[in-house]
Amino acid sequence: MFTIKQHLMAQSIEEGYKTLMKNRNNVILGGTAFLRLGNKNINIGIDLSNLELDYIREDEKNIEIGPMTTFREIETNKILKENFDGIVAKSVEEIVGIQLRSVITAGATVASKYGFSDFITALLSLNTQVELYKGGVISLEEYLAVEKVPKDILVKIIIKKYGKRATFKTMRNSKSDYAILNCAVSNLDGEYRIAVGARPGRAVVKTINSDELIKNNKMTEKIEEMVDGMKFGTNMRASGEYRKMIAKVLIRRCVEELNN
Ligand SMILES: Cc1cc2nc3c(=O)[nH]c(=O)nc-3n(C[C@H](O)[C@H](O)[C@H](O)COP(=O)(O)OP(=O)(O)OC[C@H]3O[C@@H](n4cnc5c(N)ncnc54)[C@H](O)[C@@H]3O)c2cc1C
Repeated sequence: MFTIKQHLMAQSIEEGYKTLMKNRNNVILGGTAFLRLGNKNINIGIDLSNLELDYIREDEKNIEIGPMTTFREIETNKILKENFDGIVAKSVEEIVGIQLRSVITAGATVASKYGFSDFITALLSLNTQVELYKGGVISLEEYLAVEKVPKDILVKIIIKKYGKRATFKTMRNSKSDYAILNCAVSNLDGEYRIAVGARPGRAVVKTINSDELIKNNKMTEKIEEMVDGMKFGTNMRASGEYRKMIAKVLIRRCVEELNN
């Protein structure tokens, strides 16, 4: 179990950021579900819950998700159910149980870049950006690719709206376990964006033109080519070889679903 020496209810993001930078053991608190699994000695736990950062809102161009928004809110939110065939909501609905989903937060998940994350894979198949307090707005793809980002606070997740169709699939050994593989595919104007996560490394994304993917009955070949270019690892849940085979099946099912 972790310990927190001092709890700060931040009055502004600036105060939270300044406190974060003062000491390497000062830590931003999300829902603390993951932090509790470790035994970190936290000097100051920086709580952002008073800053109205739990929201899901939309305008004509974007859907914005605040970092303190819980997975339960994401799962049940009307805007997320009505856009991208509901895949953002769907991606979190199998995670453990409602009690846990009512606590864990979107910002902590994306900021931590968990390889096993279902939520990140769904976001990556869409045109998603993250806003960091000091680092500004960058694409999720770029953010995930950087090994060591300077300490910062993730303040917003931005999903570009467009008329994308999308689908999400995951494979688990048992309900409530981590996925052994997850996959999300979106299609906008003939371009497929294919994200694969829980490899078990961080999610990766590939784009492919629909003509190239579907033409001349070459779909199986193209998917195999794409998956062969991705790295899969072995852990206690599945071998890399098995994951690779599952990836080919899940991607194919996603693409077929989008074509129906
Ligand atoms: C038992 C269990 C099972 C799970 N199973 C799954 C699963 O099957 N699939 C899945 O996708 N996920 C799963 N998760 C992970 C979960 O979805 C969350 O990603 C995870 O719990 C982190 O969310 P949190 O709010 O609890 O973060 P916390 O524990 O509060 O924080 C995690 C880290 O993020 C940092 N942080 C928090 N907020 C910010 C911010 N705004 N900016 C920068 N850094 C920040 C914290 O400092 C900390 O380092 C599971 C988690 C648990 C505890």
